[in-house]
Amino acid sequence: MNSTHSGPQAAPRADEAERDGIRGIKLSSVRLPLAVPVSDAKVLTGRQRPMTEVALLFAEITTQNGHEGIGFTYSKRAGGPGQYAHAREVAPELIGEDPSDIGRLWTKLVWAGASVGRSGLATQAVAAFDVALWDLKAKRAGLPLAKLLGAHRDSVRCYNTSGGFLHTPVEDLVSNASASLAGGVGGVKIKVGHPDHKEDLRRLARVREELGDDVPLMADANQQWDRPTARRMGRALEDFGLVWLEEPLDAYDSEGHAALAAALDTPVATGEMLASVAEHWELIRAGGADVIQPDAPRIGGITQFLRLAALAEHRHLQLAPHFAMEIHLHLAAAYPYEPWVEHFDWLEPLFSERLEIRDGRMRVPFRPGLGITLSERAREWTREECRITSRP
Ligand SMILES: [Mg+2]
Repeated sequence: MNSTHSGPQAAPRADEAERDGIRGIKLSSVRLPLAVPVSDAKVLTGRQRPMTEVALLFAEITTQNGHEGIGFTYSKRAGGPGQYAHAREVAPELIGEDPSDIGRLWTKLVWAGASVGRSGLATQAVAAFDVALWDLKAKRAGLPLAKLLGAHRDSVRCYNTSGGFLHTPVEDLVSNASASLAGGVGGVKIKVGHPDHKEDLRRLARVREELGDDVPLMADANQQWDRPTARRMGRALEDFGLVWLEEPLDAYDSEGHAALAAALDTPVATGEMLASVAEHWELIRAGGADVIQPDAPRIGGITQFLRLAALAEHRHLQLAPHFAMEIHLHLAAAYPYEPWVEHFDWLEPLFSERLEIRDGRMRVPFRPGLGITLSERAREWTREECRITSRP
């Protein structure tokens, strides 16, 4: 069972697993600075300021038998301190519990904070624990998480997003895209939703012209079009042969997305802003997505993601999880239909490892669990931390 990689732990005997219990939890609130302020359509419509940092909440869980798991959740702009505070409040519920009973522990944590709801910030805080428990379980089994879940593939198609934002001049869009493709990434996403719609078309045309017709290309409007604009732009974009058109409408406009998906040949992708399986189910039932884009930290963790993936599979949807490739690579590898994973290099400085990308695909790391450890820089960017070792 043991390999030569550092870190893997021998699989426990059944009686040892029976005896094990959660001994302690370390919570860290980390502020990751971004190299340049980032703008998508939400900034150009004046709804948000350019993003300068990402707030992360890490949970490091240890057991009485010495097993360890690490998980994280995140927020952009406001929300980081709230996630940390909520996690700190409910964490004592886990002490002494069997780390294998992940579904039961998710329910216990959510009920501990049920008064503030079963979605949004509260369950996003719970996600950090849930991800850590899955990491721990896979490490204890000596398996990459994708293998523990049951993988359909050992690598996943990947496309780059971080090079295609609206603050990026068109010349840099082209050079960023070329650099991504040269680095082995398989496709490129370009942000749209510029107040001048013709500017969107000019930028996309330039990228398409430079990259050629065969490179998979996506466009993402970050919810900033109304229904008539989305219809008009959707038609104008058909000739670009996009893999998908992402978030053309408000995230909660399931009916609008469904009508658009029915009207366009271009597949419609959405779901990243939804905060629970229930919200995703509403979207799926309405027929609002050809490509579903769940975000495990945003919907409460891996346990919830797996429930959603089962629903999406049942409706034969394509899957392209949002952000957090370090988690979603494993989850996408375990989805039956060929998915895409989103290449964002932003979180890389937080971890000691790098994901291997070549031939258009990201390879599932052959390390137990998620295959991540926190870097020294992540420790430097830690604003607050605490250790929980006793029950409530
Ligand atoms: Mg998006």
